Order: sequence, then structure tokens, then C-alpha cells
Amino acid sequence: MGATKFQTTLAGSLPKPAWLAEPKVLWPAWRQEGAELAQAKNDATLLWLKEQEDAGIDIVTDGEQSRQHFVHGFLEHIDGIDFGRKVKMGIRNNRYDAMVPTVTGPLRLKGRVHQTEARLMRAHTDRKIKFTLPGAMTIIDTLADGYYGDRIKMAHAFAELLNVEAKGLEADGVDVVQFDEPAFNVYMEEAAGWGIDTLHQAIEGLTCKTAVHICYGYGIEANVRWKEGLGEEWRQYEQVFPALARSRIGQVSLECIHSKVPMRLMELLDGKDVMVGVIDVANDTVEKPEEVAATIEAALKHVKAEHLIACTNCGMAPMDRGIAAAKLHSLAAGAKLAGHSH
Ligand code: ZN
Repeated sequence: MGATKFQTTLAGSLPKPAWLAEPKVLWPAWRQEGAELAQAKNDATLLWLKEQEDAGIDIVTDGEQSRQHFVHGFLEHIDGIDFGRKVKMGIRNNRYDAMVPTVTGPLRLKGRVHQTEARLMRAHTDRKIKFTLPGAMTIIDTLADGYYGDRIKMAHAFAELLNVEAKGLEADGVDVVQFDEPAFNVYMEEAAGWGIDTLHQAIEGLTCKTAVHICYGYGIEANVRWKEGLGEEWRQYEQVFPALARSRIGQVSLECIHSKVPMRLMELLDGKDVMVGVIDVANDTVEKPEEVAATIEAALKHVKAEHLIACTNCGMAPMDRGIAAAKLHSLAAGAKLAGHSH
């Protein structure tokens, strides 16, 4: 083989600078408000764009700097959700409690959700841009229903809105639209059924690349405890991947490094681009490029080189900013190293 350099990207989120939001927490409080907050979000987006470019990342993201949380950032732009009616709900099959808003009427988009960030990115980089949206199954697992009375029906209502926003992002010049579905690893049977139906609804009519990210969550304590109870081999992907391989989704992002997921499960995604997690987001130790390269080499036994994209295991939102930046550098350096040995 010639010198292949594997494409690199990240799952999506990056830490917010301390001047934008409270650091190292999942639902951080913003440090400013009004026009100052809007400007600070844009500044942080550009800062991370530069960091990603300098690190050598090929497919860049906005680092989700403009959203407080990956699900609620989308929900804030929808009519029919009462953020004043927050209830305590066990989410991800009761793995942890969250204060979630309630759906109280028909769901409608108030307007575009991420146009500002997408256009800002497009104006400032020639690299490929990936934009992340929460998937419909994960959305309905992160809020209470006081209106639809049927969670699958509510998921389809969200998928319709996701489709409108996804088409808008494509028109803004976004190259990859990714849906984050950690819930697919929790409700595997439903994911392979109506979960994929809602994904298809969300990508309907798109001509850009489409992706789904399925992970074992951020490196927060509740997730670490949950993973400890999953046994020696994590086989959740085994139930969903065959259905994804048959689906119209183009790319699948999954956990790999330091994970108990058997690597051979990636073979179930034959024909898809696989974003292999080669950076651990639950550990502050910065991977050496050699370790990243070794993970890519090991994954190549199960994924064709032309389908392998080196990625992070999950988002890095709750991490230390400097560590996240160092991990981006290792990701790109490791992918280059792996490329040279082929
Ligand atoms: Zn994730």
C-alpha cells in the first residue's frame, strides 16, 4: 500500500473556555448574557477551529461551544417544550438522574438552530465541517412527555424537526451531519427498530455525508460506574450494527481505545465509514501518537483502510481544556504515523 494518511475528526464537543462557561461540568452555567454571550460563543468557536486546524484535524467541528448541553442546545429552539416545568427523571435506563424539561404541546422549530455557528465555521475554514445534532431516541430519553402520550410518536415528531435543521446545515456548507445516539447502546432492540426509522427520517433528502455516533458516554462518574457493571466484553453494538449496516447512514462513530468492546464487532459495519475512537475521553492521560497508531493498526484488521476515520471515543466537553487540545494533537500525529507504515 502507498502512504495513506487516515482522515481525522472528533466525536463533537470540546471544553468551553472558563470565560465562556463554568469549566469541567456537563450542564455549565454561562459566564455572560445577551449580546456578550453571543459574541463569546463565536469567539470560542473560532478559537477551537484554529486549535483543530493547528493540530491537523481534517474534519472539524464547532466543539459545541454554543450549547449548554448536546441535547438541550437543540431543545431550546423548539416551541412546545416548557423549560420552567423541569422534572427529575432517571435517564439512559435510570443510569443517572437529570432535571429535564417537559413537552407540553405540539413541537415546532422557532427557526434555525445552528445557522450562526455553521456559517461562521464555513466562512473561516476550508476544511470539511461536521455538525452534530442529538438523535431522536436520545432526545426523548432526555425529556418528559406531557403531551404526546406515546414516546415513539414523539421521537418521530423530533426527527421531522431534525431533518429541517439538517437540510439547513447542508445549505450552510456543512459536509457531514452527525446524530448522537448514546441511547442506542441502552435500548438496543428499539434502536435497531424504530431508532433507525427516526434516523432515516432525519436524513431524508440530504446529499451530504451522514453519520451516527454511538458511545458509552462522557467520562463522568455515573458512566464509569455503569461501565464497571457491563462485564468483561461490551457487546451492545452487536445488536445495532447489523441494522446500521443495512441502513442509509454513511458513517458510524464508535468507542474503541481502552474500551471493552470487542474490535471484531466493527466487521458488522461492512460497507460503512467507521469513525474509530482512538482517543479516550474518560482519562486525562494524553495518548502517545504511537498508541493512537497502534489502535488504528489493530482496527485495520476489521475495517478497510479506505473506510477508517480516526476519531475520539466521545465528546470532550467536561475535560480540561489543555488536555483536550493535547489529545487532538496526538490524534492527528497518530493517524499520520499509522498512515506511514502502510
Ligand atoms: Zn458520545
